[in-house]
Amino acid sequence: MARVCVIGTGYVGLTTGACFANLGNEVTCLDVDEQKIARLAAGEMTIYEPGLEEVVQRSVAAGRLRFTTSYAEAVPGAEILFVAVNTPQGAGGHADMSYVERAVAMLAQHLIFPAIVVNKSTMPIGSADLVTDIIRRATSVPFAVVSNPEFLREGSALHDFTHPDRVVLGASDPAAAERVAALYAPLGAPVVITDVRTSEMIKYASNAFLATKISFINEIAQICDRTGADVREVARGMGLDARIGSGFLNAGIGWGGSCFPKDVRALEYMASIHGCHPQLLRAVIEINRDQRIHVVRQAREALGDLRGATIGLLGLAFKPNTDDMRDAPSCEIVELLQHEGARIRAYDPAAGAHAARLLPDVELCPDPYATAADADALLLVTEWNEFKQIDLARLRRAMRRPIFIDGRNFYDPKAMAEAGFEYRSIGRPAVGRRSVRRDEVEANALAAD
Ligand code: NAD
Repeated sequence: MARVCVIGTGYVGLTTGACFANLGNEVTCLDVDEQKIARLAAGEMTIYEPGLEEVVQRSVAAGRLRFTTSYAEAVPGAEILFVAVNTPQGAGGHADMSYVERAVAMLAQHLIFPAIVVNKSTMPIGSADLVTDIIRRATSVPFAVVSNPEFLREGSALHDFTHPDRVVLGASDPAAAERVAALYAPLGAPVVITDVRTSEMIKYASNAFLATKISFINEIAQICDRTGADVREVARGMGLDARIGSGFLNAGIGWGGSCFPKDVRALEYMASIHGCHPQLLRAVIEINRDQRIHVVRQAREALGDLRGATIGLLGLAFKPNTDDMRDAPSCEIVELLQHEGARIRAYDPAAGAHAARLLPDVELCPDPYATAADADALLLVTEWNEFKQIDLARLRRAMRRPIFIDGRNFYDPKAMAEAGFEYRSIGRPAVGRRSVRRDEVEANALAAD
């Protein structure tokens, strides 16, 4: 059992705190957001994350998890302090470290006993030195800084935290790394102990690689579109190769969310200021942006003119099973469609409250059918499971025009055609569309030469 303090009680902090408490540790979750802490203390969840509420409730009931806004209350008794505050994208693309700096400065003021400070937030390479300097300037109490990046995914945070593929720890003090590793020991995951900069880079490189896989398959999808190949089958055929793997090969409107966009940009920024030429990262970002534009172009092609058209969006969250709208592709797509004069209505099973704040000009609907009512087109943005069982005929009947753009390649083109939709997806031939003739493919190849 360890006494743990988690600073920052958001998606990562709350999951980390609840899971460590569930493993038998005594955990205090600390946040400067008074409303958030008041809600959590009252037994209310502040985020939508499947399964988390039960673990929080169980740990609170067992007396192992509590919530506070007071550094004076949370810090002095803790042996291990996780910093899990937000590190959003700064104006130039760099990671904004101001939240970390403030949190660590506050922590340092209340450090009375030796402790280990763990950088759980995603922080640029060199941040452990920054954190060390801030604490050293404030106190003479001995401490160690350990980098421990988090790899959980929203929507499956609980599972990812408790079944990690690996635990990465970076430290200059091996004993401190071992002490943090002991916290994770019950999970039985492989532990990579390395130096702090390497640990910090493992996080950025991992996210950049996953984003690269998605942008890669999206580029392939664009080529499939023009050559008559089916990108889903291509991805399946590629993914069965163990050297490639099937994950992150779904073509669509691209990656978004609270991590990939800012982390890829931050890595690109770091590379640039260190004199590198990160052309692959830049291409990965550019391809991702193109995918949003691509679905808007598809809507324009299908409808002719977007002015006055009503377009219904199915899903708004950046991915299923979360209410998170940070850097969600939906926001950019809504902006592009509205810019061309379209009226937007939308339904999302969980992100409605955030959407109401972020997208005030979007009419939020209670279900997919209300979204489809008199719509000129529907655009699937987030592949929520509940959309699998949708009554396609009812959806089709509700619409003014039967245009369906599937931004996630979620539906079967044949079933959509049978339901009467004029169906478009990403990198897959439309059913009934004339397949590209061999001589056309050859002509394309000659043109490319
Ligand atoms: P979040 O915005 O959900 O939560 C951050 C919390 O920190 C907020 O509740 C905020 O009020 C609090 N905070 C800010 N300043 C504070 C301070 N001085 N003292 C105490 N609390 C403070 O962010 P998140 O999604 O949990 O991400 C946290 C970090 O983890 C980021 O660096 C992110 O890149 C990284 N990360 C996130 C995910 C994810 O899926 N969300 C996955 C892996 C890593």
